[in-house]
Parts: sequence; structure tokens; C-alpha cells
Amino acid sequence: MGASGTILLIEDEEEIADLLRLYFEREGFRLVHRNTGEQGLERLRQGDVRAALLDIGLPGMDGIEVCRRIRSDSDIPIIMLTARDSEVDKIVGLEIGADDYVTKPFSPRELVARVKAVLRRSEERPISVQSIDVSGFVIDSGRRQITSPEGEVVRPTAREFDLLWYLASHRGLVLSRSQILEAVWGYDYFGETRTVDVHVRQLRRKLAGIPIETVWGVGYRVEG
Ligand code: CA
Repeated sequence: MGASGTILLIEDEEEIADLLRLYFEREGFRLVHRNTGEQGLERLRQGDVRAALLDIGLPGMDGIEVCRRIRSDSDIPIIMLTARDSEVDKIVGLEIGADDYVTKPFSPRELVARVKAVLRRSEERPISVQSIDVSGFVIDSGRRQITSPEGEVVRPTAREFDLLWYLASHRGLVLSRSQILEAVWGYDYFGETRTVDVHVRQLRRKLAGIPIETVWGVGYRVEG
């Protein structure tokens, strides 16, 4: 069983999990089930999951936050399972990066069909497109643009984009000004490290709320 691949279900209702397992296995998928977002994220790290089905109302970390975290380093298809129409507004309005959603109660057959559809679409996606999500800011290296949590699209200058991409892809790490200069401007750049500060200031101005933290006496860090 599992010739079509592994689907991860993050859902705290056992009955839904049992029902879905039946339908997905009948279609050749392997369905793995976790009860909480934390456990689901842990399972994803094994790297074999083709798509995730994600309940919004979970104990602990909710599905919206789990979706954001998955999107910060993976572009696997995500289908949200919602219980209320107000949650649909959140999924659509927040642009958290989900591919699709179904509202409970849903037909398992319908959900299997949606999964197959998102898998087909994701396989048609150009592989060079990569994006990083930082606190809801989606940084898209294919389009070289940033979408804010409110859905506003910002296109910074080429250098500003490269700087943000470098910081975001090293999230959580403190990077010194000279390290940043070398990586973004190149080894033979003779300018001052103040150049970095000027560009960071521009990014903060264009992207209000972007979590670029100043580490005094050292440099910068994007909080992860
Ligand atoms: Ca639930």
C-alpha cells in the first residue's frame, strides 16, 4: 500500500482520521495521522510527505500557524480542513499559502479528488520558484517580490531583494555586516558596512513589520 505516496493528516478527531485512511488507502495512498501541529511538523521532517491535510482547530498550535511554519521551508501542497465559514475567510484573507480547503462536513471522496488535483498542479509548477515565509511575509525568489501579511505586493530593488533573501534564508542566525557585504555585494566590494544599514532601513520602510532585528555591535538577524 502507498504506491501513490504518503499524505499527512494533522487532525485531532480520530473518527475523521479513520474514515479518511480508508478512502485514501483505497486510492493507493498511505495516510499518516498526527493529532497536533507540533507532531505533524515533526513528522514532515522525515521528508517523504507529498501533501498535507491540515485541520484549523487543533489543540495547541492552530492550523493557520502550522500552515505558516510548513510554508517557511516547504512548498508541498496543503489542504485545510475547516469547521466554520469564518475560518475560510482567514485562509483566503491571510494568504497563508494553503493550496485549497474543504469545509466540514466534507465528502471523503471529494477530498481525495482535491488532493489528486493539487498534486497534479504542484507537479506542473516550475521547480526554480522558491519562496520563504517570514512572519507572514512571503518572499518569492521567482518573481523577486514580497507579499505582506495583508496581501500587499512589494517589489524592492534588486540589491534590497538579495539582502532580504540572504537574511531570510539564514533565519535565526546573527549575520555580521561584513558577512552580509561579502555574500550580497561580493568579495570585491570596497564600500562601507554602513551600506548594509542603509539597505536594511529601506527594507523596513517598504515592508512595515518585517522582523529584521538589529544585533548591536554585530549585525542583523531575521527572527525565525
Ligand atoms: Ca479539530
